[in-house]
Parts: sequence; C-alpha cells; structure tokens
Amino acid sequence: MRHNLLLKLLALWGVSLTILLVFALIFIRKSTLKPAKDRALTTAQLVRDALTTLMVSNAMDKREIFLEEIKKVQGLKEIRVIRGEAVVKQYGPGLYSERPKDPLEKEVLATGKVKEEILEDINRVLYRVIIPYKAEPSPILNCMQCHKVKPGEVLGAVSITMDLTPYRNFGFFIFFSLGAIALTVAFITFLIVYGNIKNVSTFIDELDKVFSAFEKGIFYERLSLETLKGEIKDFGKKINKVLDILDNAFKDIREKVYALLGYSIMETENELRDTEKVIDELVRISQFKRTIELDNSLEEVYKRLESVLSNYMSLDKFSIYEVTDDNRIKKVAVHGRELWCSEIILKDANECRAKRTGQDVDSEEFECVCPNFAYCANENSNKKYCYYCIPVNVGGKIGNVVQLVYERELKDFVKLLIPYIKGYLREATPVIESKKLMEKLKMQSYIDGLTGAFNRRFLEEIADKIVAQTLRRNSNLGILMIDVDFFKQVNDTYGHDAGDEVLRQIARVIKDNIRKADYLIRYGGEEFLVLLTDVKEGYAEKVAEKLRKIIEETPITLPNCQTIRKTVSIGISEFPKDCEGKFWKCVKFADVALYKAKEEGRNRVVRFKPEMWQEKEY
Ligand code: GH3
Ligand code: MG
Ligand code: MG
Repeated sequence: MRHNLLLKLLALWGVSLTILLVFALIFIRKSTLKPAKDRALTTAQLVRDALTTLMVSNAMDKREIFLEEIKKVQGLKEIRVIRGEAVVKQYGPGLYSERPKDPLEKEVLATGKVKEEILEDINRVLYRVIIPYKAEPSPILNCMQCHKVKPGEVLGAVSITMDLTPYRNFGFFIFFSLGAIALTVAFITFLIVYGNIKNVSTFIDELDKVFSAFEKGIFYERLSLETLKGEIKDFGKKINKVLDILDNAFKDIREKVYALLGYSIMETENELRDTEKVIDELVRISQFKRTIELDNSLEEVYKRLESVLSNYMSLDKFSIYEVTDDNRIKKVAVHGRELWCSEIILKDANECRAKRTGQDVDSEEFECVCPNFAYCANENSNKKYCYYCIPVNVGGKIGNVVQLVYERELKDFVKLLIPYIKGYLREATPVIESKKLMEKLKMQSYIDGLTGAFNRRFLEEIADKIVAQTLRRNSNLGILMIDVDFFKQVNDTYGHDAGDEVLRQIARVIKDNIRKADYLIRYGGEEFLVLLTDVKEGYAEKVAEKLRKIIEETPITLPNCQTIRKTVSIGISEFPKDCEGKFWKCVKFADVALYKAKEEGRNRVVRFKPEMWQEKEY
C-alpha cells in the first residue's frame, strides 16, 4: 500500500514539475523575445529616421558609421540596411552589405512583411528580425519626395541580429534554479510524506500481524512500537494494553478451568480454541459427574465409563476391572477380546501389576513389564499390541484398574487420551466409592447374619429379575426347598448355640456344592431355598440328591466339640414348567413337595407332581 501511494505521489510530482518547468521555459522564452523584438522595431524606426535625415542632409556616406554606432549603443550583433529594388533602380546597388543576402531578406523586400528567425545552437542564440521600410506619404516625412515609388512600396529593410545568448543563459539559470528549488521542495515534501506514510503503513502492517495472529487464536503477539512515532505510537501502546488484558483474561480463564479439571489438555498455538476445548471438556466432565451421581447402581456408573472410553474416546480395546473384597479381579467391561490378561489375575488381584504397585503400567517401558498381559503370558503369540494400565485408588486402596490396549501406530493418540481418561476416572472415583459402599450396605441387608446365605428380603427383591432372565433365556430354574430334619431336637438336646452352629455348617455345605450363579436363601428358621439357575430339566433332582447325601455324610462339630450328623428333606419344583410361569407358585409347590418328603419319612428328595396340589389357590 505504501509503495503504491508513494508511486502515485511521485508520478503526480513528476507531471506537475514537468508542466511547471515547461511553462517556465515558454514564459522565459517569450519574455526574452518580446522585448528583443520591440527593441528591434524601435531600432528599425530609429535607423529609418536617421537614414532619412542623413539622406536629406546629403550625408548618406556616413551611414555606415551611424549603423556601427547604433550597433554599439543598442548592443546588437549586427545591423544592416538592405536596399529595395526601387531604391537600387534609382540610386544604384549601394554598399555590398546593403544587398539582400538570403531568401528571407528577399521575401521581406518582396512582401513587405516583418520576418524573424532564431538561430540557436549550444553556444549561442541569435535573434534576427528583418523589418521592411515602406513608402509612406507622411506630411512630416514624405518618402515620395525623394523616392520614385508608389505609396506602400517597399523601399528597403533593416536586418537586425541580436545576441540573446546571455538571456538564454539567464533563462536557463532561472529555469534550473526553479527546477532545483521545485525538486528540493518536492524532495523535502516527499521525505515528510514518506515518513508519515511509513508510520501509518508500519502501524497497519503491525495491526495486520496482530489481527492475523488473533484469527489463529494467538494472543501473545504485540505491535512492535520501536518504529512507530507520535500519536500512532501512543495508539499502538493502547492497543497493546488491551491485548495484554485480553491475553491475561484468557490465561486466567484457562488456568482456572485447568485447576477445575485437574489436568491440562493438549495445547495448540490457538489459545482461543484451547480455551474453548477446555471449557467443553469441563462441561462434558461435569455432565458426566452429574449423570453418574444420579445413576442408580455401580453397574450403571461402569456402563457410563465404558461408554466414555468406547464412544467418546473411540477406543475399541480396553478393560475395566474391579478389585473385589476378597482380592480377586472382576471383569466390569472388556472390549476387543474375552480377556486382555492372563486368567490368573481373576483369582488373585495381586497378579495385576497395576493393582499390586498402584502405579501406571506402560508397555512402552518394557514390552512385557506385566507378565500377565495376555500376549506376554503366551510366549508364542504375536506381541503386536501395547498396553497402558491405570490403577484407580478408591477409598485408600486400588479399587479398579483401567487397561488400554492399542496398536503401536496409535501410541501417540492413546498417550494423548490418558490425561483425559484420568480426569474422568478422578471424577468417577468418589462416585464409584460411594456406590460400592451403598451396594455393600445393601448386600449386607440382604444377607442372613447367621448363615451368610441371602435372606428372604433378597429373594423378594431379586425374584422378578431371576424370572425375567430365566424366561428370556428360555431356561429352567430348579427350586429346592430344604428343611433340616428334627432340628428342634438339636436345640432341645445341645442348646440353641449348637442349633445355630448346625444351621451355619449345613448352609456352608450347601453353598460349597452349588454353582456360583445359584442362590442360597435362608427361607425360614431351619429352611433353605436354593435356586438352581439354568438347570437342565430333571437335573434339579440330581443336585438335590447330591446335597442331601453330602449333608447326611458330613459330620457337624458342635461348640462342645461333639460331632453329630443331620439329614435334610428336600422338595423340588421347576420354573416355569410346574407353575405356568408363576414363580411364587413354584416356590409353594417345592414346599408342598417338601411336606410330602417329610410325610414319607424325611431324609429324602421329592419332586413336585401336579397331583400333590389339588386346591385352586396356592
Ligand atoms: P421336622 O423334621 O418336621 O422339620 O421337625 P423339626 O423339629 O425340624 O421342625 P419344627 O418346625 O418342629 O422345629 C423347627 C425348630 O427350629 C423350631 C425353632 O425353635 C428352631 N429354630 C428356628 N430358627 C432357629 C435358629 O435360628 N436357631 C436355632 N438354634 N433354632 C432355630
Ligand atoms: Mg421347618
Ligand atoms: Mg425341620
């Protein structure tokens, strides 16, 4: 912009200067020629009058001296009188110098018109004017008295040559002085204008620099003021001050938000976008926290965390583990494989390096820093995956482990995500902790204090879920109602504590001999309900028989160290087959079968049959 403006200015100055000088030249020339011509005319007049006087007084032979004098007095280069044809005819050709010597003089004699010419070269300028003398019938000086001519006829002419070289030189002096003054003025003006334009254009360049940076979200760029001057410099200072305020405000916002987040995000040059991202992240994480706080169960919180990893962070291989109270590892969610670790960790949580050390485990340190990573445990496998395990401290101990598994090419991406994941985990931890505690309390309220079996309340809570699962899977649920035979005798013979011990030991035997997925519920005083999930039809009887037999064979040590044996009677029904899908009806039918077993002599298993129940209502 600056160059453009200066070029235009220079062009304008150039044209103006040229016009000025051309006009000056014309003016000087004109103002030199006009007086020269006037002087020539006056001289011509003078010469004519003088010659007439010389002629009248018969002193024509003195005309050369006269002309020489005139030449000196008038400062002429040359002055010649030329005879016209009529005069030549009347008086002869006269002196040699009085003959016309060039066509211009002849033309003046012929036409009677004034002619002039300028003879100019580098060294000199000569102005020559040829003025005709015409016969005029004047009362004072009548030419026709002496000359035999008609009025208006050309008698002769006078050729005057003036040396205008000094004038030209003076003109040139004026011209060049004028030029020099104009150029000097133009140059000074140029310097002033250039200085101002430079100031403004540097300022604009600086503004451009700062605003371009602004566009990219960079706030630390400032106007450099060293080259700026005057008011513009002051204005620049103000702008820099505003930029400082903005920059500090953004830094402040970012730092506060980072402090809230607890971790910093990947920073780019674009501070505006970074701030935006951080605020987005803060909003997302606070939404996450609010959501999980309102979640009903620990399971839901885990699902939410799983969704953050798989949906929001686009991870397809990861594990979320929970460390149980009995120091095992429970799979909460595993993506990309059945299990990314050796099975051993499920039985002993200390086999998980992240859980044991409480430190992040990164395969970047050593490929098999954790020997229980699936690919390290199996020597033959292709170790193409990397892993990063994050232990999560819940209530002072490692309560969870989050494991990220990734292809080596994704290393940078995953490393970038780790601070974010930790941020989410940090938000989730107190919620996980309180939910775990709640679930523990809830579980405790479902557990019978004496036997460790579930209580009846639990059955009431879980019944609908078990029914739904069984029906959904199109499966079969075995219902065993177990009652200790002649239990009252134990109380009566050995005391109540012995009775309690018998119940405890029988419950243990039952629990040890059913599957993990089955439920043992203390249904009444010495009555247990066992729910066998996903049991094949007819197979419940076999399980019941096995239990009956083991209980019968297992000696029970009483608190007084005496050993006794007890038997149980078991009534069986199968859901949904026996009771048209009505769970509590099936429970009743198992009880009916139990009653039958008691009736038939105890220590036996009786499968419910429809004929055992004749009533319409149960
Ligand atoms: P049957 O073979 O007909 O089942 O005879 P039984 O004696 O086992 O049955 P009964 O229903 O007559 O007696 C059950 C007894 O169990 C009555 C009750 O005092 C006792 N009992 C119930 N709950 C507890 C308990 O928590 N601890 C102890 N020690 N005894 C209990
Ligand atoms: Mg009973
Ligand atoms: Mg009994």
